[in-house]
Amino acid sequence: MPKDYYDILGVGRNASQDEIKKAYRKKAVKYHPDKNPDDPEAEQKFKEAAEAYAVLGDEDKRKRYDQFGHQGVKGGPGGADFGGFSNVEDIFDAFGDIFGGGARSGGFGGFSDIFGGAGRRSSRRRQRGTDKGSDLKIRLKLTLEEIAEGVQKKVKVRRLERCEECGGSGARDSSSIKTCQVCGGQGEVRQSTQSIFGQMVNVRQCANCDGTGEVIEDLCRACGGSGLRKKEKRITVDVPAGVANGNYMTLRGEGNKGPHGGPPGNLIVLFEEKPHKYFTRKGDDILLEARISISQAVLGDEIEVPTLTGKASLKIPAGIQSGKVLRMRKKGLPALEGSHRGDQLVKIQIHTPQKLTEEEKELFKKLRTYDQTHREDGQDGFFEKVKSAFSA
Ligand SMILES: [Zn+2]
Ligand SMILES: [Zn+2]
Repeated sequence: MPKDYYDILGVGRNASQDEIKKAYRKKAVKYHPDKNPDDPEAEQKFKEAAEAYAVLGDEDKRKRYDQFGHQGVKGGPGGADFGGFSNVEDIFDAFGDIFGGGARSGGFGGFSDIFGGAGRRSSRRRQRGTDKGSDLKIRLKLTLEEIAEGVQKKVKVRRLERCEECGGSGARDSSSIKTCQVCGGQGEVRQSTQSIFGQMVNVRQCANCDGTGEVIEDLCRACGGSGLRKKEKRITVDVPAGVANGNYMTLRGEGNKGPHGGPPGNLIVLFEEKPHKYFTRKGDDILLEARISISQAVLGDEIEVPTLTGKASLKIPAGIQSGKVLRMRKKGLPALEGSHRGDQLVKIQIHTPQKLTEEEKELFKKLRTYDQTHREDGQDGFFEKVKSAFSA
């Protein structure tokens, strides 16, 4: 059972917004992490109070909380997207104003006295090289044969690499990196304003140096100051057997390098299947059409058909009809996971010859006389059945 927000702040259900704010400030001061270093219990209480205040300090959320309890403010339809605070920094981000804006950095401004005057940090200077490089996406075309066995592919990728001229600093030389004059190297600028709580100090990231505290006077000519240059790299991709169109693989750290030595992004390899000369894929099965002659169909035969792993023989049973599908077990594609392997399905097409030698013609004519003797159970019998079906 989550604790009641009113109990946490120690106020009655009819407390005014002002009373709630005051109660919260009192708790926040009491359990503030600066006053209770390395005290997890105090930190927990500090977070609880912030969570309670996030709800009760907001008229809308308070109303929902009064009506539906915690469910009303925990997300879901009609609920707020408020899910509690996981760390102290979030609390300063959310309620910086109540602490006087500068709560999360040096000097608390209006409330610095109640928090004992000490800043949480001497400086919020942003580290260079903390920005991650961006991800890259490439398409990799594969033949069905490659998919059947899995394959190791070498791909060329144009990605951002560290500039060799400046070693990634973006500066022409080390003397051209200067302390930012706007923030004095602090990486942030402060603005004081008067408010109902007294003097407020607003702290912002320095726009002049992007919060790094440094500016580069002479940019590296090779990279224009970014510290990065596009380069072509050859990367090996181990494609597992059984992949399909639209499957992808993420190669961690193989994307663009981050600026100023920041961590690299990822390379996302999207698989694409090349159309095949004979085969069509259907899930893990492979479809193939095979043509056989009339005599093969009548007498049966053993023929050679292509498969993804080379030629294989296929038995044609005597008397096969055109359009019949023969199954070659385990000659299809392996499943991406598990040990299943698909089949190769061969659809038989009986080829009717159009150019005949005189001799062949004679043979077919001879056959025709046999056709007439077989009419009882052949074509005529069929037409008789059709006729009777229509007259019935
Ligand atoms: Zn600056
Ligand atoms: Zn450079």
